[in-house]
Amino acid sequence: MTVRFRRVLLKVSGEALMGGQGFGIDVAVADRIAMDIRDARALGVEISVVIGGGNIFRGVAVASKGGDRVTGDHMGMLATVINALALRTSLTKIGVDAIVLSAIAMPEICESFSQRAALAHAAAGRVVIFAGGTGNPFFTTDSAAALRAAEMGANALFKGTQVDGIYSADPKHHPDAERYDTLTHDEVLNRGLAVMDVTAVALARENRIPIVVFSIHEEGEFSRILTGGGRSTIVSD
Ligand code: UDP
Repeated sequence: MTVRFRRVLLKVSGEALMGGQGFGIDVAVADRIAMDIRDARALGVEISVVIGGGNIFRGVAVASKGGDRVTGDHMGMLATVINALALRTSLTKIGVDAIVLSAIAMPEICESFSQRAALAHAAAGRVVIFAGGTGNPFFTTDSAAALRAAEMGANALFKGTQVDGIYSADPKHHPDAERYDTLTHDEVLNRGLAVMDVTAVALARENRIPIVVFSIHEEGEFSRILTGGGRSTIVSD
């Protein structure tokens, strides 16, 4: 089957892993996302993943209560490692070879990130899960996703969200919000559309990487979009 993109970086937010819970990881949801990744790989698409940590911790939570932002961000980055291990577990259970590469060295737990290692693992057919964000405070895992997409030479950055694309306003609170099928990176930035942070969109624009925004909760949607169907907003220049 023909696919639209051969090499894809998938961003999964921590919130996505939370499912209906208020905190943490719903293993059933992690398992389902793992199955979507397996099915997309079966189409011949090379997939790597950047995972967020918001279901466990966000740095601003510390900063907003008078604590040190950098420490808060360290806690957030550690949260992404927990999520990465959960997703690897879900992939391994269904026979998908996956590896976690962390931007922060913790050799007893997982390999450290380097572009060389990431490309080698991907070439060996593994799903590479990037943990630890960019490894720096004051960044987000969306920015990490754009960065790793550029480093991997990805043809597209798939951003799995709670809804089926980009809207002019949050459709959960504004039922009359306009939904877009296509946008340019400039339009996303100029209109201040809250889909990814500015750093992430700017990095994708600079490297001419399309961003495909879709619902991570629609089972099978990842593969449908890869084969030309499904619902998404495509951001490209
Ligand atoms: N974080 C960071 N640097 C990075 C990526 C993440 O400091 O490069 C921290 C930051 O505190 C952030 C938390 O990790 O709030 C979790 O990441 P994020 O909020 O992007 O997760 P998501 O919203 O995707 O669940």
